[in-house]
Amino acid sequence: MTNRYDHRRGKTDPPRKNDFRSNKKHRILKRRRFALSVLVLLILIITGAIGIYSISTHIMDNYDDAEEFNEFVTDHRDAAELPQCFSSNTDKIQYGDKLSTAVRLPKTRNAAVNNAMSAMSASMISGFEKKYAKSEKAALMVDYEGYMTDDVYGIAVHKDIFEEKDDEMVIVDSQVFTRSFVKKSGRETGGTALLKDGYKDQLSQDILDALTDEYGDDLSSHAKEHVSDTSENLNSFLLADSGAIFYFDEGTVLKKGMGSASVILDMSVIEDFLQDDPADAPVDKNKPMVAITYDDGLNGPLEEELLDCLEENGAVATFFLLGTNVANVSDSENILKRMLKQGCEIGNHSYSHPQLTKLSPKAIREQADKTNDLIEKLSGEVPTLFRAPYGAKNDKVIKTYDMPEIGWSYDSLDWKYRDPKREFNDIKSAGNLDGEVLLFHSIHEPSVEASKLIIPYLRARGYQLVTVSELAEYRYGVTLENGRSYGPDFFDLEDSEKTPEISY
Ligand code: ZN
Repeated sequence: MTNRYDHRRGKTDPPRKNDFRSNKKHRILKRRRFALSVLVLLILIITGAIGIYSISTHIMDNYDDAEEFNEFVTDHRDAAELPQCFSSNTDKIQYGDKLSTAVRLPKTRNAAVNNAMSAMSASMISGFEKKYAKSEKAALMVDYEGYMTDDVYGIAVHKDIFEEKDDEMVIVDSQVFTRSFVKKSGRETGGTALLKDGYKDQLSQDILDALTDEYGDDLSSHAKEHVSDTSENLNSFLLADSGAIFYFDEGTVLKKGMGSASVILDMSVIEDFLQDDPADAPVDKNKPMVAITYDDGLNGPLEEELLDCLEENGAVATFFLLGTNVANVSDSENILKRMLKQGCEIGNHSYSHPQLTKLSPKAIREQADKTNDLIEKLSGEVPTLFRAPYGAKNDKVIKTYDMPEIGWSYDSLDWKYRDPKREFNDIKSAGNLDGEVLLFHSIHEPSVEASKLIIPYLRARGYQLVTVSELAEYRYGVTLENGRSYGPDFFDLEDSEKTPEISY
């Protein structure tokens, strides 16, 4: 692995004439015609070699119409020679007088990965069009490297922006984004989610050694800072069968103008740092995360729709179910099992939705047990959390229930408005939602319609959609305890503690 991806994209190549291909064909014909002349043959071998050299190093520098832009794109992709293990991809090439785009991204068997890629493509194109709106001539070029292990898809997305300078298109911005997905679930993983705790010191030393071997004098004097043990520095990597590939943006570990860098650490070096089962570690502490919760189910068909949407977006949610509604749905067993299989969490929302504060301890106990027993009988697992109906709770309720009681920090008021557009717009204007618990209800159709807008939207902004227990563990570093209540005071990060949304 070297940084030739950027290197060989024309920055360091001298401009050459565009007619080199026809020159070469002409030379080959000549060579056949005068094959008997040793002298001419020798000359032709030499010029032929120069011709081949031209082909291997020439990169088209500019374009003036759609056809030439296609050639420009093909040339730069050939030069990049990125490894691709996926069988197909999406490729959108769009020429414009001022702004042109060429976005090639992989297509996999997993809908969540494909949806993540198309959201990324849309966000890169709209970001480019906004930022370069005033440019006379610019091009966005997106391409990828793909890797696959038994458990994980790894995709490095290379984004290069070209602008015209002195009649030549040159790279003015170059970035690499790594995206990893658990194959089975489509949930996004990667970065620190794949690494064990306590890995950082040794890992940063190993990376520095590998970079030194690979780049020698091209390393910048700040290289050591950029591989030091902060999470951001070690977060950008992919797993391949042979090892882990770490990426560093332009202007970090290499001297200025040398492009971005990547270095591979052999599996024998990296395996001690890796989680034993990547599929069990789908949450990255260093990326924003939010827990969506749905109360009052089961409805049946509406949860099925939600589960489809979650699955297609590599997302999970927490369902606080009412015993009586679970009992009333004929195929509740299948729905509950599907929830668990997809990695969702099931909570207890009482049996018949009473105001628990008004009940005796015995009656509270009954609401808890009846619901837990029913869900365990159907799904094989006891609910892990509970949420008091109406949020009405006191010490007696919390201690008697003896499970972690979960409130919310964002109330969609979906039961009141029943308006998907309003619910979606409210989310869009809610600011940074990292660390929040969102309250919705799975028994109202408009809430499900709203979710179909909200879930892809949050994923596209870089949020990991996690269960409540995952949020507590990965964002707050807490294992939820029985007989305790966790409400808006708990699920409340200071703005300065929030991880920013991701933009591509
Ligand atoms: Zn409720």
